[in-house]
Amino acid sequence: MSTPNQYAMQDPTKQYPKPEFDEQPQSAPGLAKAMRPKPDHGEDSYKGFGRLAGRRALITGADSGIGRAAAIAFAREGADIVLNYLPSEEADAKEVVALIEQAGRRAIALPGDISEETFATQLVRQAHEKLGGLDIVVNVAGKQTAQKSIADVTTEQFDATFKTNVYALFWICKAALPLLPAGATIINTASIQSYQPSPTLLDYASTKSAIVGFTKALAKQVAEKGIRVNAVAPGPIWTPLQPSGGQPQEKIPTFGEQSPLGRPGQPAELASIYVFLASQESSYVTGEIYGVTGGNPLP
Ligand code: NAD
Ligand code: MG
Repeated sequence: MSTPNQYAMQDPTKQYPKPEFDEQPQSAPGLAKAMRPKPDHGEDSYKGFGRLAGRRALITGADSGIGRAAAIAFAREGADIVLNYLPSEEADAKEVVALIEQAGRRAIALPGDISEETFATQLVRQAHEKLGGLDIVVNVAGKQTAQKSIADVTTEQFDATFKTNVYALFWICKAALPLLPAGATIINTASIQSYQPSPTLLDYASTKSAIVGFTKALAKQVAEKGIRVNAVAPGPIWTPLQPSGGQPQEKIPTFGEQSPLGRPGQPAELASIYVFLASQESSYVTGEIYGVTGGNPLP
């Protein structure tokens, strides 16, 4: 896929690939490297304007998809970054580290499983120590496993989805808050599934609704400290989460077709929203859930 100039005025229905796509099964968590067409994370296009100059950010799920797009954008906006991802995603993560360094910023890779409390807590402490402070926490990591029936959702799956999507968020925010200065921001990643759950995503959609409640409650709780908490709620986005079990494989060819814009979003199309919510430009925005859905309205 040739990368469009994301700053040139153009028809958004034609800006990026449309269905049909090939089926392309991968085992979870999947790799961006293996996707066809290749997702656009803004590698060749994102331009920074110094909006995060000197900031220090922790981003989970930073190897691929939405987290990678945020990491590239944050680096080009002037931030140093700690990237978290699973050890099996090293090949994707190496590309992101190189891109951050090309932007002249520090990239510190701290791979590990955030569904374990000890690791999640250590991750925050180490990020703070290695970056010499922490100003932005971006929770992007998530687990999504489609099942046709509640009968097929094992306790193990239910537990793993909640541990990764909700408990890790709780542990990371809890560990981060005493370390964050006034002006710091937390950005969580909800979903259109928070509001319009698919029947195949019982456990996942429930975690995404929980993230909305958590974000709004925490935002009110920490407002007086001058810390803002928001979430982004993406619609269908072309990332490894989907072909690696997030959707039934037979749904991959038409992925994104039902959105009014007629195609899935690309990770690059979310980058500037994460930058906005991280930067001082959003100083009066907190407890907000920002939809990026291709036209399916959120409440
Ligand atoms: P992705 O697969 O590129 O990113 C998800 C990342 O989560 C992985 O790269 C992995 O590093 C991380 N992860 C998963 N389990 C982990 C664990 N136990 N420990 C540490 N890291 C772990 O896919 P994405 O679509 O960019 O997903 C990012 C976020 O966006 C997720 O929270 C997802 O729920 C959300 N989201 C995605 C879509 C979509 O259509 N792709 C839609 C709505 C919301
Ligand atoms: Mg990944």
